[in-house]
Amino acid sequence: MDLHLDPDDLNTCVQCGLCLPHCPTFRVTGDETMSPRGRIQLMREVQNNDVPVTDEVLRSFETCVQCRGCEPACPSSVPFGHLMEQTRETLADANMITPTWQRLAFKPLEHPGLLQIGSKALAVAQRAKLVPKRLGLSEALPLRRDQLVSSGTDVYLFTGCVMDAWQRDVHQAGQRVLEAAGFGVTPTGDLAPCCGALQAHAGLADDTRRLAKSMMDTLEPDRPILVDSAGCGAAMKDYGHLIGTAEAAAFSARVFDIQEWLADHVQSLPQVEPLDLLVAVQDPCHLRHVQRVHLATREVLAPFVRELVELDDEGLCCGAGGAYSVLEPELAGQIRERKVASIARVRPDSVASANPGCSMHLAAVGVPTVHPMQLIDRAITEATRPPLDHE
Ligand code: SF4
Ligand code: SF4
Repeated sequence: MDLHLDPDDLNTCVQCGLCLPHCPTFRVTGDETMSPRGRIQLMREVQNNDVPVTDEVLRSFETCVQCRGCEPACPSSVPFGHLMEQTRETLADANMITPTWQRLAFKPLEHPGLLQIGSKALAVAQRAKLVPKRLGLSEALPLRRDQLVSSGTDVYLFTGCVMDAWQRDVHQAGQRVLEAAGFGVTPTGDLAPCCGALQAHAGLADDTRRLAKSMMDTLEPDRPILVDSAGCGAAMKDYGHLIGTAEAAAFSARVFDIQEWLADHVQSLPQVEPLDLLVAVQDPCHLRHVQRVHLATREVLAPFVRELVELDDEGLCCGAGGAYSVLEPELAGQIRERKVASIARVRPDSVASANPGCSMHLAAVGVPTVHPMQLIDRAITEATRPPLDHE
């Protein structure tokens, strides 16, 4: 079967195995077919030697978290993420992965009204204890959301789909921090309802291209687009590759992770008393391995908390992986156990995570996660709050 993989990309792998310790599915299974090297070998067998795509082959591809932890570890610079995305696109086009129910489940993400109705129903069901644990929802989803109001046109704040429905408080904190640094902020809201990241992971790249083109048509040119979800930011920075036009590449070039942007403007943030917290930084894979801007989180956050502490697992994935924790709950749970153990070793007060999926996946087992923007916002708000008048 032709997987439509670039032969040069496929042949770049020299099978050295240096990526294996950085692969979460290999770490928990010890199975070569659950490793980057094993997956690349299967891609070669299928594409070059017409080896049939058996259930075992599909299992190998479907269990990849697409964390891309294997990429920075690879001395040959194998573009594993793009190989896996193209493999999934070919298999989805042939209806071999991503069944109809999954495709239908993605549809509300493109329609904010529909998503809001679904989220409210889920919030009600959650309060009636009718939501299965495998969905990994830790806290009560909001029944109501405050409006996001534009404060200017310096930058866009991308608000997206599920995150806007479930974690709008993170957007509000991010907007306040940007405003404290002097930027007027336009929340994208209905202008750009979904980035298409989850669809691309599932092999539905045509849906992602359609959403990307719509966003490129709608948002004003030249204005920076800031993103407070690592997974969405990584997807939007990849539009240039996905669509393959100069226009898409130019769009991607003005996408910034919010921490990345603020690290370049850190002198504009107010200087305030830091929060008395020991904070562990959890690097979302799409910030560390894909965007490779994870150090910005430390730079921006450090002045606002008593102490930052590093985990000792070299950025190993937490197992959230977009919809992975729902589709592969057993493996996702095993992978998470390693992350939780590394967090427990440093005994933090809070864990700063810049990705909603990681944050919810870890919070579901009691990890005290918070977005870096929420910590900075809290420090600034506490410093500027007027003292209580006891007279
Ligand atoms: S992907 Fe890179 S690190 Fe992994 S086996 Fe191939 S060449 Fe080695
Ligand atoms: S993307 Fe992540 S899970 Fe997939 S092979 Fe690479 S390291 Fe393993």
